[in-house]
Amino acid sequence: MTQNADFPKNYIEGHQNWVEGLSESESSLYQHLGREGQTPTVMVIACCDSRKMVPDMFNAGPGEFFVLRNIANLVPPQGHDNGMAAAVEFGVNAFKVQHIIVMGHASCGGVAASASHFEAGDASEGSQTLTWLSALKPAYEASKVIAETEDADFSTTFEKQAVKMSLDNLSGYAPVEAAIKEGRLSLHGFWFDIETARLHLLDTASDQFNPL
Ligand SMILES: [Zn+2]
Repeated sequence: MTQNADFPKNYIEGHQNWVEGLSESESSLYQHLGREGQTPTVMVIACCDSRKMVPDMFNAGPGEFFVLRNIANLVPPQGHDNGMAAAVEFGVNAFKVQHIIVMGHASCGGVAASASHFEAGDASEGSQTLTWLSALKPAYEASKVIAETEDADFSTTFEKQAVKMSLDNLSGYAPVEAAIKEGRLSLHGFWFDIETARLHLLDTASDQFNPL
């Protein structure tokens, strides 16, 4: 049962202030997008985490980014999640986005929860969250080896490996594979350092995330 009276008043007023504060050009952009539809060129797969302001962090406006968010910005292998497959197909085939970003971030609660779960060796039955996060197992195993051999921070290593694993999985989705072959789509990995508010881009040549 909905209880509209309980919705925080500050956010209702916040929305009213936001609408009233729109500039003339912003208002006409919304009118244009409402009438003509959207033509985003970039798709972003990001975590649900409240500290990431996608697409604001790219200085991108309404209509530019097609955004999908889930726990731990995870792309499971093709065939494991219908919602993910549908969004990717829609972005690649209907909008013909030219770029797909998988964006991980520092202090990711989802990634940390999966690590605790894998360490404890618990079964994931009964928890939707843990069932979803179980797809991170290959990245977890790889991160354990990397963190040990390179003496690196495990959490950060795992967050970055999770992005790489999701990119690998994403490249196996049929619409993505076809679009890459046609030369009209490229994939990118980012990791967001919350404390500095700076994005780090995965350089495929060096296999390192470098700050923008
Ligand atoms: Zn997260």
